[in-house]
Amino acid sequence: MSIVTRFPPSPTGMMHIGTARTALFNWLYAKRHGGKMLFRIEDTDRARHSEEAVTALINAMHWLELDWDGDIVSQFEQRDRHVEAAKELVEKGQAYYCYCSPEELEEMREKAKAEGSNSFYDRRWRDADPSTAPAGVDPVIRIKAPLEGSVTVKDRVQGDVTVDATQLDDFIILRSDGTPTYMLAVVVDDHDMGVTHVIRGDDHLNNTFRQNVIYDALGWDKPEYAHLPLILGPDGAKMSKRHGAASVEEYREMGYLPEAMRNYLLRLGWSHGDDEIISTAQAIEWFNLEHIGKSASRFDFDKLEHVNAHYMKEADPARLIDLCKPFYQSRHNVEVSDEAQRRILAHAEELQSRAKTLLQFTDESVFYAKSVPLNFDEKAQSLIDENQDILAALLEMISDLSKVSADTVQESCKLIADKLAEGKLGKVAMPLRAAITGTTVSPSIFHACEILGQDETRARLQAAIKG
Ligand code: GLU
Repeated sequence: MSIVTRFPPSPTGMMHIGTARTALFNWLYAKRHGGKMLFRIEDTDRARHSEEAVTALINAMHWLELDWDGDIVSQFEQRDRHVEAAKELVEKGQAYYCYCSPEELEEMREKAKAEGSNSFYDRRWRDADPSTAPAGVDPVIRIKAPLEGSVTVKDRVQGDVTVDATQLDDFIILRSDGTPTYMLAVVVDDHDMGVTHVIRGDDHLNNTFRQNVIYDALGWDKPEYAHLPLILGPDGAKMSKRHGAASVEEYREMGYLPEAMRNYLLRLGWSHGDDEIISTAQAIEWFNLEHIGKSASRFDFDKLEHVNAHYMKEADPARLIDLCKPFYQSRHNVEVSDEAQRRILAHAEELQSRAKTLLQFTDESVFYAKSVPLNFDEKAQSLIDENQDILAALLEMISDLSKVSADTVQESCKLIADKLAEGKLGKVAMPLRAAITGTTVSPSIFHACEILGQDETRARLQAAIKG
């Protein structure tokens, strides 16, 4: 059997990281088995529909580098098929028209509440004679849920989960305005799209019982199910905005790499022994449903940062610079010229080993893209103010060097330290760093001088010297 998974988000806003993990698991499972992952937008709620939310979902998938097979399917566009299925169920005697008024339903609800019952609809139209239908009322279509026994979902993560039939109402599959409910649409679409595996959040487990009633009524084979436990914030509550960042977009903005996000989200709910670093290629080779955890996972920002730092070191430096370009622009209002690119590439290894995120990489390399005069941050400015004598000595020394290399600059700094700073190299290196980078945090400043070259190093020192 060829495996078909699906990713069917509702376009309600930015992509939640739980949704991203669902997408990843479906994608991995399809790749693992040489199958397909289909992408369906569940856009039947027209009142809340937003094209921006659809675009946000697509952008998030592109950023995560998760692709899908075929065109994106719009659930709304399939509405005629949903109506057809609902009518077919009525014809087969598996569903029926219900003409209850809102008042009648409210009364049933009150009664059920008083009796402490989970289901409320008393099925009064289930076996009623259609000729007794009131005129001028648009009916809903309700499915005939089993009256006794139980419904079992065979779940690949949770095992067999059973509910008593008394828990299931004759729920609505087609509303009185002719629009399908989610419960019906999802079953018809999954069937029509040939979905073999439904991997989704366990907040949908309750829906699965009802969806199985529809599958049985239509006489269709059910897909296999794997319901994923929730992602919780570090405090154990459902991961949401107040934990800092809950959407994929925010992680992108915080400078995380897509491959790190994939690795981290994979581990958040799936394991391969104690392995923490799992490349996407390995994940495709290893991913299975058996090793999905049964309990909810807690999001751990430190772990994500650790995983990201690993991929920062491994990444192709030119790609990193490309990914940082929007940040050079938004955080420092700086373009990366060809010369800046050359300089940053020359120092990339050290920058990569220091940076936990793209933001850190940007901030620690941006001095290469700036031009004289630099803006000095507060700490750099005071170092410059307090060490004018050292800066003057540095300028003279750099001008006299026949070759500006990390070694020659370091040697000269040592000589200046002996003369002016009681032999303390840091007391010379810090003002040099302040003058060259405008900050007090950077990779090796001796190397930076070599990469900038004699003229640029002199120009930066000169600009830091007053008068
Ligand atoms: N549209 C649903 C959601 O975004 C997913 C439905 C499903 O996976 O069956 O939660």
